[in-house]
Amino acid sequence: MATKTVAPGNLFIVAAPSGAGKSSLIRALLARHNDGSMQVSVSSTTRAPRPGEQDGVHYHFLSVDAFQKRIAEGEFYEWAKVFDNYYGTSRSVIEDTLQRGIDVFLDIDWQGAQQVREAYPEVRSIFIVPPSLTALEQRLRSRGQDSDEVIAKRMAKAQSEMSHYHEFDYLLVNGDFDQTLHEFEHIVMAHRHRMPLQQVRYADTLKDLLGSSAAFPY
Ligand code: GDP
Ligand code: ADP
Ligand code: 5GP
Repeated sequence: MATKTVAPGNLFIVAAPSGAGKSSLIRALLARHNDGSMQVSVSSTTRAPRPGEQDGVHYHFLSVDAFQKRIAEGEFYEWAKVFDNYYGTSRSVIEDTLQRGIDVFLDIDWQGAQQVREAYPEVRSIFIVPPSLTALEQRLRSRGQDSDEVIAKRMAKAQSEMSHYHEFDYLLVNGDFDQTLHEFEHIVMAHRHRMPLQQVRYADTLKDLLGSSAAFPY
């Protein structure tokens, strides 16, 4: 009888220069798997909300004082200063969600990625680049949510951010959106099916198939 036990969720980092498409790719992947098996972590930030952004949905928008208080209280799993604003990931949300067997995506920058790798070596990290710098600038403009000054600042930082690409486990070049989405999905699905997690999920099945001593050979 094929029964399943809850195995811990997988933690994924998705990083990219601003405008490369990471939010769109995460959103599209979640829309394809709307069975409660995956979530994106809602970060806290001191940046001002963009038009249409809702508190608690896109970010938890905090004042600098409130953010610094949370840093002091150890509430962040990781935090970093990006483009003059603070960004951070809540510790309790990550830990509780993974414990419930749900995969979690962190849309964070390379500095945060370094902190998470230290704290959680099992994390898998994916870096997304645009096909060209021209495409990156076009995407920032077409998104239509940032001023010229903010776009210029983000473009100026893009190359230094991308110089960290080799610290990540996987690299996606987001040219054609649908193709990149498929590649992203394959990475996530492969990681979900790795042996130690499948052994927990299908412990009873493996015992039925192999007998209790043969099911876990080590
Ligand atoms: P934001 O991150 O909240 O600002 O939202 P985005 O700017 O990332 O996405 C805006 C819309 O563009 C969403 O409806 C996306 O699904 C859509 N979108 C993202 N990438 C592509 C693409 O490559 N092609 C098309 N046709 N639509 C896209
Ligand atoms: P990020 O979260 O990395 O800052 P977004 O997901 O907000 O980037 O994407 C930036 C803009 O580029 C959005 O307007 C989005 O619709 C667009 N975009 C994303 N991926 C592609 C793609 N493969 N081709 C064309 N446009 C894209
Ligand atoms: P944006 O302002 O475009 O939403 O995000 C700007 C940058 O901050 C992106 O590189 C994004 O990945 C990063 N970022 C967003 N949330 C977090 C977070 O919680 N922690 C860290 N370290 N970076 C974040």
